[in-house]
Amino acid sequence: MVKKKTARNWSIQKSQELYGFERWGNGNFSVDSRGCVQVKPLGDQRCIRVLDVIQEARGKGLRAPLLIRFQDLLRQRVEQINKAFETAIKEEKYDGVYRGVFPIKVNQMREVVEEIIDAGEPFGFGLEAGSKPELMIALAIHYDPNSLLICNGYKDEEYIRLAMLGSKLGKKIILVIEQVSEVEPIIRLAREYDTVPIIGIRVKLLSRGEGKWATSTGDQSKFGLNTTQILSTCHKLREAGMENALQLLHFHIGSQVPNIITIKNAVVEAGRFYCQLVKLGFPMGFIDVGGGLGIDYDGSRSNFESSMNYSMEEYARDIVFNIREVCASAEVPVPDIVSESGRAIVAPHSMLVVEVFERITKTDDSLARKPAGQSHPIIDELEHILKSKRRYSQLERFHDALQKKEEAYSLFNHGYLDLENRAYAENLFWKICQTIDAELTETAYHPEELFELKKMLADQYVCNFSVFQSLLDHWAFNQLFPITPLHRLKERPDVNAVLVDITCDSDGKISHFIDLEDVKEYLPLHSLNDKPYYIGVFLTGAYQDIMGDLHNLFGRVNEVHVFLEDDEEDGYYIEQTIRGNPISEILELIQYKENDLLRSMKRQIDRATRKNQVKPRQGTRLLDFYEDLIRSKTYLNIEQEPKKKSTRRARTGK
Ligand SMILES: *Cc1c(COP(=O)(O)O)cnc(C)c1O
Repeated sequence: MVKKKTARNWSIQKSQELYGFERWGNGNFSVDSRGCVQVKPLGDQRCIRVLDVIQEARGKGLRAPLLIRFQDLLRQRVEQINKAFETAIKEEKYDGVYRGVFPIKVNQMREVVEEIIDAGEPFGFGLEAGSKPELMIALAIHYDPNSLLICNGYKDEEYIRLAMLGSKLGKKIILVIEQVSEVEPIIRLAREYDTVPIIGIRVKLLSRGEGKWATSTGDQSKFGLNTTQILSTCHKLREAGMENALQLLHFHIGSQVPNIITIKNAVVEAGRFYCQLVKLGFPMGFIDVGGGLGIDYDGSRSNFESSMNYSMEEYARDIVFNIREVCASAEVPVPDIVSESGRAIVAPHSMLVVEVFERITKTDDSLARKPAGQSHPIIDELEHILKSKRRYSQLERFHDALQKKEEAYSLFNHGYLDLENRAYAENLFWKICQTIDAELTETAYHPEELFELKKMLADQYVCNFSVFQSLLDHWAFNQLFPITPLHRLKERPDVNAVLVDITCDSDGKISHFIDLEDVKEYLPLHSLNDKPYYIGVFLTGAYQDIMGDLHNLFGRVNEVHVFLEDDEEDGYYIEQTIRGNPISEILELIQYKENDLLRSMKRQIDRATRKNQVKPRQGTRLLDFYEDLIRSKTYLNIEQEPKKKSTRRARTGK
């Protein structure tokens, strides 16, 4: 059984190490002296205790699941990438400038994009759009005439007309040709609007990426032009007298590139294309290296898919250096450098807070009861294994117990074991496993099977959220996020658990956790007491926000936007609160109108009242209840339910 261990042999430092804050936290996340997670959004001394934010939000009626955005963290990342390139350009004596853009698709939220634009203004940081709706956002909120507005993605005539509109307004619009079929309408509409936007070409590189999104390049990629198509596009532009418009070469090798070698290779290959186009007589002037700059989700600084083996500074230096080298060898003037980093800018700024409200264990001693009277021989045999601690090795006892458990199931299936004996046999089996597990020391060598034991024994912590709404990439690609308790970090975690959500889907769970260059199949957590227990999922700001879906009709979660503020007591203030979807909004999306539902319920209640199944006053109350509920949140309202006993039965030790 889990031994009763106190705070005495545990420390904040141990929690820091166990959960890896220093490895993946980039100086932004750590544990404070009270054992709570704190955020340093600007990486300086100023910090915000996450629990304070949770409690303040709660006071405003916004309970977990809660998404917290630390807006200053966006600012820090925008400054960091711009300074990384500035420094690299200076150090490499590079004769061009950096002109970054933020790809809106990675997080379209207005407050996020606005914060990025604001933080990027001193650097001429622009925007990238990949669809009509994104371009409509970009056109409306892009003001700086010097920053770029890059148009990627598949384009119909309307998309191109939107870009022309921006061009007419004097914006630095770059239309990147992704398909040969886009060339003709671009030429035609440029004439119609009497404006010539800057034109770019997206090249399909052969340099292969690595990681989960490697298929963004190569022959099979759905994006970009191959060599023949590039030449044909050049030809068409020249024929139309638009050769001066061609100024940018673009590539994108996929997101979260774990290995810097991939980036170096791609930059060199693209650099050659760039120089060739200059030699063909096109003005050029920009090379756009796309996205791909990673986030070190597990903090291992390795080329594992959830990590990256380079820093942002190394990334910038390698790009600047390689472009300079390729251009020097071709005797071509160097271009200005554009990058479209999305993930690296927005991933750290937001975190998801979930509340655990139930613990599911394999055995429950308080419920287990030895069958009265003569017990079945299989029970005696299992009890014997449980007691034979000293005589046999752990592995041998484990094998024996497994065999007896199988035997018990088989006896049950053949009608030779009753329900009570089966229940007791199961309970004994898990007790044997727990005893063996408790004997294993952290350091000694153990056979693989005994490691499996830990996984088998892990409890389930039920959390009030939906993986499909809030962590889609974890479900879809097994993407790992750092996950830690947000408080009680002075205490030794005494439970190994996986997290399960409240959807009726067995995939709705988190059972893979970061570990150095590896994956852990359970997370050490604290036993529940009668206070709320909050768990944070970190680095969730990229892609997750918009990809989430409505599985089981769980809607968007509550959200708060937090800013540092020196004058405030806790060093921060909540600038914006956004309430999660009420049930009615979600139902509207799938064509159930609130009024129709209410009318239908009223009709049924009236009928039941007439038949005397329901008393009139009770009928009114039932209808009011339905009406109140349709305007409430889709998630569990766990406050109303007093904490159940089962959540408190943590200590079953001897
Ligand atoms: C998605 C995308 C990006 C952003 O990539 P990250 O890896 O998130 O930085 C940049 N450019 C293009 C063309 C994209 O499709």
